[in-house]
Amino acid sequence: MTACVEYSAAIQLYLDNELSGPSLEASLVHLRGCDACRVQLEAEKSLSALLHQSQPLYVAPDSLRTAIAATRHIIALAASGK
Ligand SMILES: [Zn+2]
Repeated sequence: MTACVEYSAAIQLYLDNELSGPSLEASLVHLRGCDACRVQLEAEKSLSALLHQSQPLYVAPDSLRTAIAATRHIIALAASGK
């Protein structure tokens, strides 16, 4: 069962596409033969999909935020008649 504990960290790396070469090979071989780790992999996948759904993937750059704030300021000035 020690192996599964080690592969639990490897599953995270695998999902982040940070596994390569022999570590990737070893993890894939282990996953193929281990139901428990496959279940964990699926669970981690669903969790990460959920996190991606609940958070915006892209944040507006500061330059865009500044431009919007400036535009709002100009509109507010125009609306106030000054
Ligand atoms: Zn395992």
